[in-house]
Amino acid sequence: MVLGAILARGRDVCKRNGLLILSVLSVTVGCLLGFFLRTRRLSPQVSRAGHHGAPSQRAGLMSGLASLDAKTSSRLGILTVAYYLWTTFVAVIVGIIMVSIIHPGGAAQKETTEQSGKPIMSSADPLLDLIRNMFPANLVEATFKQYRTKTTPVIKSPKVASEEAPSRRILIYGVQEENGSHVQNFALDLTPPPEVVYKSEPGTSDGMNVLGIVIFSATMGIMLGRMGDSGAPLVSFCQCLNESVMKIVAVAVWYFPFGIVFLIAGKILEMDNPTTVGKKLGFYAVTVVCGLVVHGLFILPLLYFFITKKNPIVFIRGILQALLIALATSSSSATLPITFKCLLENNHIDRRIARFVLPVGATINMDGTALYEAVAAIFIAQVNNYELDFGQIITISITATAASIGAAGIPQAGLVTMVIVLTSVGLPTDDITLIIAVDWALDRFRTMINVLGDALAAGIMAHVCRKDFAQDTGAEKLLPCET
Ligand code: ASP
Repeated sequence: MVLGAILARGRDVCKRNGLLILSVLSVTVGCLLGFFLRTRRLSPQVSRAGHHGAPSQRAGLMSGLASLDAKTSSRLGILTVAYYLWTTFVAVIVGIIMVSIIHPGGAAQKETTEQSGKPIMSSADPLLDLIRNMFPANLVEATFKQYRTKTTPVIKSPKVASEEAPSRRILIYGVQEENGSHVQNFALDLTPPPEVVYKSEPGTSDGMNVLGIVIFSATMGIMLGRMGDSGAPLVSFCQCLNESVMKIVAVAVWYFPFGIVFLIAGKILEMDNPTTVGKKLGFYAVTVVCGLVVHGLFILPLLYFFITKKNPIVFIRGILQALLIALATSSSSATLPITFKCLLENNHIDRRIARFVLPVGATINMDGTALYEAVAAIFIAQVNNYELDFGQIITISITATAASIGAAGIPQAGLVTMVIVLTSVGLPTDDITLIIAVDWALDRFRTMINVLGDALAAGIMAHVCRKDFAQDTGAEKLLPCET
């Protein structure tokens, strides 16, 4: 009887908190699976890369760009970077189209911002903020604050009828009977509600100006690269700093599952209707995957086909091993040596081209991440019933591109740089916790597209720059990951 009562109670709790339990379980399983796959020795190449990888594959944005030599970063450099930026932007557009069609966050209730009490902004404001944020006046301040347009409500017309609007107040005379008869006057105030005009003024808000720091780091990295030997001490300082921070992150990552479980549990308990939010989250995941499929299986291969006139399926078959490693590790940096090996051995890409295109790609080219960031930001806007205007969509597309450039090639780095995109249009950064539940899976798919994008870029560059690289000098020193 006692057992029966316990089981009945358990079934009750499960029924009421089914989604909560399911989410907590799925996150725990996801995290454990992630750990298992991450810590497992996938192949000798991967483990070797971890210890002896090329400098640029271990470096951050600044030191990564600084380590490019001036000769290779001429024609090939310009073409590669232009191609990367363009395809990333295309990926963002695909994501925006997908999220607008599928609308995973539910239909907007066409609630005006005035009714919802949310600030109203003109299309130009986020764009202007974006430009202001790109060039921080003070780098130290940029670490703590970024520009966001403040919108101050200014009440134009008087709330209560005054002498200037006396005719709006009408008196209605009527009779009301209550405990005998008496006359009562009713006053009807027809004064229109006050006209509230939102005045925009540039100001600062809390939050790190990641975009400004990314732009600064990229510029500094390129300049250090041009300085040659005189810039070497600062480059090795940055590499050392980057590596030590990565080691700290690696330790912190072990505590990640506990934090995530409580973050998500807290978020679900806060929700009025967790089942609806669960459904929306499912649609959001489907939207991201559809966008990745369109970009990775149609747009990028077609681009490869039109430029090289070669069969993209044969090319993709050659890098299948790298794609599987990307799926397993969620890290394009960890996959880099395998991508390199596949390109050289299966697709016969010139080593000098692969050596340049792949590390730069692992640093700045993340089509999958950019697409996901755009979808996630618009999904969060939809869930919160924010109506984004055209200017804000443009801002999201630019910031998602920048955020993907700033993301490191490690698991779930895109989740961190999402803050840039959300804050650029004033969306709540707290809501990132909403998408954490499915991020461990989506990260694997977007990493595959990131790796695919880099590999196809190497194939395209090898075709476009084949004349520049017609002669093999054979005098180059091999990098550890190529041996
Ligand atoms: N995990 C991705 C990569 O390594 C980055 C991200 O989107 O989180 O390419």
